[in-house]
Amino acid sequence: PKPFNVADVRGDFPVLQTYVNGAPLVYFDNGATTQKPWAVLRAMEDYYTGYNSNVHRGVHTLSQQATAAYEAARETIAKYINAASVHEVVYTKGTTDSVNLVASTYGKKYVKEGDVVIISAMEHHSNIVPWQMLCEDKGATLKVIPFDENGELRMDAFKEMLDERVKLVSLTHVSNTMGTINPVKEIIALAHALNIPVMLDGAQAIAHLAVDVQDLDVDFYAFSSHKIYGPTGIGVLYGKEKWLNDIPPYQGGGDMIKTVTFAKTIYNDPPLKFEAGTPAIAESVGLGAALQYLMELDLAGMRAYEHHLNQVALEKLRTIDELRFIGNAKERNGAISFMIGNHHPTDVGELLDQQGIAVRTGHHCTQPLMDIFCIPGTVRASLTFYNTEEEVDKLVAGIKKAVIMLNK
Ligand code: PMP
Repeated sequence: PKPFNVADVRGDFPVLQTYVNGAPLVYFDNGATTQKPWAVLRAMEDYYTGYNSNVHRGVHTLSQQATAAYEAARETIAKYINAASVHEVVYTKGTTDSVNLVASTYGKKYVKEGDVVIISAMEHHSNIVPWQMLCEDKGATLKVIPFDENGELRMDAFKEMLDERVKLVSLTHVSNTMGTINPVKEIIALAHALNIPVMLDGAQAIAHLAVDVQDLDVDFYAFSSHKIYGPTGIGVLYGKEKWLNDIPPYQGGGDMIKTVTFAKTIYNDPPLKFEAGTPAIAESVGLGAALQYLMELDLAGMRAYEHHLNQVALEKLRTIDELRFIGNAKERNGAISFMIGNHHPTDVGELLDQQGIAVRTGHHCTQPLMDIFCIPGTVRASLTFYNTEEEVDKLVAGIKKAVIMLNK
């Protein structure tokens, strides 16, 4: 591919040409959801206009085409994350659904009274609540790895938590609030030394890091399509084949079975064992197209550009007197969270919106993290490869303008 250049890719994303409140859109809410390239929109339109049909069912041509496209997208995903086998890629509704799948299947089989599940203090609610529900149900304990003032996990505390009662560690790869990249390889090695499997929430990592599930040696990896330029309503659970064979199914219904009688049902093999009912077919095609689009870019150049843009943003934001970063990890990516003096994040967000700048404000579904910092929320700018330095300048100028208005 030709060397990455932001000017070449911006035209691929139609939304980036829109105006908001009279100004060209500056979209810095990529952590919440990303914009979609034409390649994704066209692939989904092609499916609906050319071969819309149900999968794994009909002998007719359209159904075979739909099935082939659904399975081809699975192969693209397997390649993107370097799964050892395509059977290790399960379609879900998204990260939340993937975590719930593991909590209710692995959890059902392996977590018992007195056992422990470990998460961290920087988790998104979707990697807290399913484990809380499981632990409540089973009489197990949820332990939480704390982080330090920079937003880095306290590895000493983690090591102390590890013993034979721990049945799973489930952690975010990258914090959606602070941008911290967690030392997941070290965590996985420590857990595996005691035969404890590890699940990673890759919602914020998948679009920005080269995720290689075999190199990580991770047991389960979850992510959402909509955070990697694909459509909403679909996501992925990667699971090592040995686990997917071993754990019980998630939901019952069509497609997840081999044979059904009233006496007994024989389940399908993974991944179909976990895909009950008619799936999100157009969305699978869209996700496949998104990953294909990325693989046709100069990915290394794109990641270097993102890293550079993040550094520039941090440096320029640092020039704002009232600004205080929430999270200062050495290894970071994506989310940049901050407070502006004592102003409520919502007020800052609204003033930025008036200038066409989209940032996220609030607790970012990490309320326990907000409690640790004793703040109601943050302003969060999350950048990605189609953003520019010019947009960063607009953000900095926009914040300075907002400060003047708020201080009046
Ligand atoms: N985990 C993290 C770290 C996230 O950032 C998000 C989305 N904000 C989720 C999980 C949940 O993803 P989804 O809503 O797509 O299921």
